[in-house]
Amino acid sequence: MSAPVVEVRGASKTYPGPPPTTVLRPTSLRIAPGEQVAVVGPSGSGKSTLLAILGTLDEPSAGAVLVDGRDVAGLRERERCALRAERIGFVFQQFHLMPTLSAVDNVATGLLYSGTRHAERRRRAAEALEAVGLARRLRHRPGELSGGEQQRVAIARALVREPGILFADEPTGALDSATGESVVALLAGIAGRGTAVVVVTHDEQVAARFSRRIRLRDGVATEQRGTAA
Ligand code: ADP
Ligand code: MG
Repeated sequence: MSAPVVEVRGASKTYPGPPPTTVLRPTSLRIAPGEQVAVVGPSGSGKSTLLAILGTLDEPSAGAVLVDGRDVAGLRERERCALRAERIGFVFQQFHLMPTLSAVDNVATGLLYSGTRHAERRRRAAEALEAVGLARRLRHRPGELSGGEQQRVAIARALVREPGILFADEPTGALDSATGESVVALLAGIAGRGTAVVVVTHDEQVAARFSRRIRLRDGVATEQRGTAA
């Protein structure tokens, strides 16, 4: 297996309370470049907690998180933010687009603070939108797009910096099943182009589309590998 993009070693999470609540039991995982992974489990099983730890948005109570082999606990807050911006993309159930900006400008915000010039940001944003099938929607604002199209804009924004890994937390939660299906197919297709994709879902049908599944129950992660549907 090639060097992991993200790795956790014995990572656990206990919220202090009172009373203290252990949400994630000690977990070790490695996610390789281009890998496609589903994290699946019922509501409250700790999926979003695990995703936040893998994505360096939250710190584990114990254990280590490594991005590109670097232990993020050793980084200053500013360095950690820079590493996250450069290497990690996020997509959420609610698309979190700026309502006043066109699709292309929304995606271009993914390149702010990357040192990319304005014209270049818009060129790359247009390219990213083409890659998610939205070449004909560049000037549309979120309110003029369907839910599935808005999620594609959010995916393009997450991908425009060409991250090593993309995390999607319940990306189909706000979509009807047919639209959700096409968004899942898009996400599964992105993996393998170099970017690892980790989709968090409570939906078994969504999880079945991914060749590697990490099953969470009461904060315990169990690996499952098999063919994708
Ligand atoms: P999932 O995404 O699988 O639905 P979460 O990771 O969001 O699960 O939450 C797992 C458990 O952790 C839930 O029981 C939730 O109430 C609890 N939890 C999440 N965040 C906090 C917090 N900040 N403080 C205390 N408990 C929390
Ligand atoms: Mg969740």
